[in-house]
Amino acid sequence: ITPDDSLVHALRRVAERHPDRPFLAYFDGRLTYREVDELSDSVAGHLAARGLERGERVAVLLQNSPHFVLAVLGAWKAGAVVVPVNPMYKSGEVTHVLRDGEVAALICSDRAWESYLRETADGSPVRIVLTGCELDFQTRGDARVLTFERLPQAADADDLAAIARGGLKAPEGRDPGPSDIALISYTSGTSGTPKGATNTHGNIMYNAERQRTGLALPEAPVYFAMAPLFHITGMVAQFAACLNSAGLLVLAYRFEAGVVLDAFAEHGPHYTVGPSTAFMALAAHPDVRREHFASFVNISSGGAPLPPALVEKFRAGFGPYIRNGYGLTECTAPCAAVPPGLEAPVDPASGTLAVGVPGPETVVRIVDDQGGEVPFGEQGEIVVRGPQVVPGYWRRPDATAETFPDGELRTGDIGFMDAEGWLYVVDRKKDMINASGFKVWPREVEDVLYTHPAVREAAVVGVPDGYRGETVKAYISLRPGAEADPDALAAYCRERLAAYKYPRQVEVLPDLPKTASGKILRRELRSRANDG
Ligand code: ATP
Repeated sequence: ITPDDSLVHALRRVAERHPDRPFLAYFDGRLTYREVDELSDSVAGHLAARGLERGERVAVLLQNSPHFVLAVLGAWKAGAVVVPVNPMYKSGEVTHVLRDGEVAALICSDRAWESYLRETADGSPVRIVLTGCELDFQTRGDARVLTFERLPQAADADDLAAIARGGLKAPEGRDPGPSDIALISYTSGTSGTPKGATNTHGNIMYNAERQRTGLALPEAPVYFAMAPLFHITGMVAQFAACLNSAGLLVLAYRFEAGVVLDAFAEHGPHYTVGPSTAFMALAAHPDVRREHFASFVNISSGGAPLPPALVEKFRAGFGPYIRNGYGLTECTAPCAAVPPGLEAPVDPASGTLAVGVPGPETVVRIVDDQGGEVPFGEQGEIVVRGPQVVPGYWRRPDATAETFPDGELRTGDIGFMDAEGWLYVVDRKKDMINASGFKVWPREVEDVLYTHPAVREAAVVGVPDGYRGETVKAYISLRPGAEADPDALAAYCRERLAAYKYPRQVEVLPDLPKTASGKILRRELRSRANDG
């Protein structure tokens, strides 16, 4: 449906039509579409000149900065597959990705290179390294000082100047096509060792175009990148969707509530997307005001459960309605969303907020353990087929066959669909708590905890229990200045939930552990509970 095969073509199209339109804003700096086109050509030229070949992998380990965008577009122009790497990864995790992805080139910040990546890359397949000074761009506020330095050999001054001026040309004949792999996206591993999902350019363009047509944003929309770009939600629902709409992408390094609110005030974004924890953090910030959200046409939450109580608190406090959206790395971010103009219903029986309806050409089914479809309203595993579903995992035929039987994605999420076609996610199959044979889904208990005024974040896990097998434990963080006694919180849940569901143990922590994409790490809390 989109006129472009890939974001490379989209960039060239917009750069030709609207060369002086701003594409990236980063603190005081701006880059236009023409500048991004030229600078990414230059990155591509450098990679090719150093011997990078078509189809080789380029790892990009950067925060949300213009460098990230230039690195990714440059790598694609050189015909490479991009491996986005979580900047929060420790050495061992980076090593896994560099080896597993058989990565030939690495693009990262000077600081990360000097502090740990030089050592980490040693002995890995990486043979080309480009480093850039993300923060220089911020402090000098001048797009033209943007540099990519070549390492490990000392950078040669001509190269630096050439990249900064956009002097090199992208190599000919390397443009990607729709079925070429664009990304190897390592799942964040909330469930185990990260596997690389292979998102194609076609997968990305489909979801980018779906967003353009589905969001009803104005011409030249302003996107604020709240989710990290290395994560599929940020990559597709922000960067790809913004470029495909010829919009302005406002970047702010990494999520920090105060900085985000300032950027809202300065740039007046029309759209942003983030995990529900980001909205909790914004709502809890002492400076937050209704006016911060005045420019938004749409706000989406994706990638993590959205408690209905948060949607209501947000609307009452700040105005916007947070639209839910459901997706996985394996389906290139969203596969179901709440269409504009509609509001997601809440299932009366369980109190769960619907995640949306499947997009066009997307078939979502709910199946039982034997793979048979279950009737409306009944729970089962969510399976997805559609143009955004990846062809498989990188070099993992077994995992691919297991997760994508016949090309259909088995999500590992339990959900149900109502008669009107709204999809509900109950929880992850593997997070189910079995208390004396009773099934407890952590989400349902968390949703109740979120209705308590003192609760900022909540996560519920199963902990071993001699009598029940497993019992329910809640971890909580509190809103600033709020006080709550763990017993009182347990009693609050007991009044609202069946006896086997309420948390027998409640522990208050200053903050809950999260992935870099903002999801609460139940896995880490489970091991904490087991160790303690
Ligand atoms: P891993 O796959 O390694 O566990 P991950 O959780 O980071 O890592 P993602 O692909 O980022 O993997 O996340 C997809 C999961 O996020 C879904 O399977 C689902 O459990 C959850 N999720 C996404 N959107 C929603 C939503 N709107 N409501 C509830 N859960 C959601």
